[in-house]
Amino acid sequence: MKIIPLGIAGFIPTESRETSSILLIVDKIAILFDCGTGLKRLMLKKIQDELSSVDSVYVFLSHFHMDHLAGLPWLLKLVDKPLHFYVPSNPLIESDGIENLNIITNNPFFGLEIPKWPNFGSINSFNSDVVYIENKAIKINKQYHSGGSVGFRIDDFSFITDVEPQEKDIKFIEGSSLLLLDTMYDKLNYDDLISKSTTILDHGYSIGNAIIAKKSNVKQFGLIHLNPLYDSRRIAQLLGESKSVFKNSLIPEETNIYTL
Ligand SMILES: [Zn+2]
Ligand SMILES: [Zn+2]
Repeated sequence: MKIIPLGIAGFIPTESRETSSILLIVDKIAILFDCGTGLKRLMLKKIQDELSSVDSVYVFLSHFHMDHLAGLPWLLKLVDKPLHFYVPSNPLIESDGIENLNIITNNPFFGLEIPKWPNFGSINSFNSDVVYIENKAIKINKQYHSGGSVGFRIDDFSFITDVEPQEKDIKFIEGSSLLLLDTMYDKLNYDDLISKSTTILDHGYSIGNAIIAKKSNVKQFGLIHLNPLYDSRRIAQLLGESKSVFKNSLIPEETNIYTL
């Protein structure tokens, strides 16, 4: 299995990072988790070469916030294999996934509805804790987030974004070789936000996530949904905080190929 981060910034693309999208290639299929601005990296020859060996591309959305969605219409031009969309729905999130997809890909937001795309394969919604595609189980984790979000696990790879992870999530990610986990905040930022909040937050933080990674016995913890307002020094500090608790923490490099 190959994991290729296409975008790991949260909220806003920056000079060096794009917003949420992870490409996974296993056997003859590709799975795109989220459709943020990271999808522009599908234009790279290196990524096109990876896609040339697959028969179909499956698109899974974690939720419908724009930083996970802005690149979705670009798939019309960037993928020449059949595209199958899988979107979460009630009660996993607080809205109807297919309805959302229709709204964002029809006028006035985009001019060609997905079923008319030449690379159209299918549109599907899911509201259960596992989805099977070509005999592969994609496990689904319902998460607390504004409007709802879901995390994904396929074999020993977990992609968990837009959530402040809790003890209850440990079972889902336990033993992953690679865990990609929303780490939007450093400790300073988190302590300030949590002191003003009456609930858990919409995103995770360095120390808390590292504790979860450690308790889950994952091999590697990759910090994603990085805060776009942090400069490189603060990102290095974020990683340092995480490493102080869980030494196999890393900032994944966009377009790098991680083989599991
Ligand atoms: Zn987000
Ligand atoms: Zn979100």
